[in-house]
Amino acid sequence: MRSPADFISRRALGVDASGIRKVFDLAAKMKDPINLSIGQPDFDVPEIAKTAAIEAIKSGKNAYTQTQGIAELRLRLRESLTQEIGRDVGEVLITSGVSGGLFLAILSTIDPGDEAIFLDPYFVMYKHLLTLAGGKAVMVDSYPDFRFHADRVEKAVTPQTKLLILNSPSNPTGVVMTPQEVAAAVEVARKHDLLLITDEIYEPFLYSKDADGDMGGLPSPMKSYEKTILLRGFSKSHAMTGWRLGYAAGPKAVISQMTKLQQYTYVCAPSPLQQAALRAMDVPMKSAVDAYRRKRDIAFEMLSRKFEVVKPGGAFYIFPKAPNGISATDFVAKAIEKNVLIIPGNVFSERDTHFRISYATSDEKLKEGCDILCSLA
Ligand code: PMP
Repeated sequence: MRSPADFISRRALGVDASGIRKVFDLAAKMKDPINLSIGQPDFDVPEIAKTAAIEAIKSGKNAYTQTQGIAELRLRLRESLTQEIGRDVGEVLITSGVSGGLFLAILSTIDPGDEAIFLDPYFVMYKHLLTLAGGKAVMVDSYPDFRFHADRVEKAVTPQTKLLILNSPSNPTGVVMTPQEVAAAVEVARKHDLLLITDEIYEPFLYSKDADGDMGGLPSPMKSYEKTILLRGFSKSHAMTGWRLGYAAGPKAVISQMTKLQQYTYVCAPSPLQQAALRAMDVPMKSAVDAYRRKRDIAFEMLSRKFEVVKPGGAFYIFPKAPNGISATDFVAKAIEKNVLIIPGNVFSERDTHFRISYATSDEKLKEGCDILCSLA
């Protein structure tokens, strides 16, 4: 007789999510914590988008859309990407969040035994999706500056390497790749004939100005390398994490396979919300970015007094080193005793030396939390 547990596939068992689960278990016991762990903006969906979603539902836009998404949204995204990137970006597929895009991109390209390279620390999903696909996650240590070191990446390339996955601005470090680093990544990809997946979900959250005071836009490998799959979404830019809307752009040969797989998995992204996303694209989000730049400054200024920490250039995370050589897990346990919820680096890394703070919270809570962390250090 098989017990229910005996039915579980090796594929599912191969995914170890124990690190983050421990954090959630601890968090569940906390009463009204100073929560610096959340990977989502603390502002709400723009009013215009909410109204558009309600209108779409009321006017009956509730059926499946085409697998690839509604034509108006795809066209709009293709136009704005083409303008930004400076070339035709190929096909556009609306996905169920960037998570959906990652799942489809990895499933469409990775065969058992194929290898994919990405920097450590990394967004956890990369590792787990590669395991699910039977591929091998090859993590390249980027401590202590979290920059793209082409020489380290180059050493990790083998004849089995198929993908190079980039994430800029980065979760969990907040580091934004420079144009030189992007050029170096493209050079590695070109030399070894790799497909690049660029996860740019935090693209609007950029805090550094160039000499003209212009944000200059995100340096993206999409601009110079055709074998690139670009993944972006609305979760972070418009605070719609629960709406499950993202998009993928790139060469037709890959996007059409992703579309085929979407047909048999997610089917399509939420129909009325695709209509609303189209309207959301008209809403200027500059004030939100300005607010997050201020929060980044607060967090960096306070934490750098007591911690070894790299100044983030984007997203809404900062990744300081746990003090006095103690493990991140131990430091996080101490922070939780003081009612501050942060995430140990081993959730995002093969190392357990740093911790992730999300500064997507009120200035008051952020200052309070940073004060407590500094006093612990
Ligand atoms: N990529 C990165 C780097 C992320 O941080 C996240 C969300 N935390 C995602 C992808 C997935 O986001 P979503 O599925 O909500 O679009």
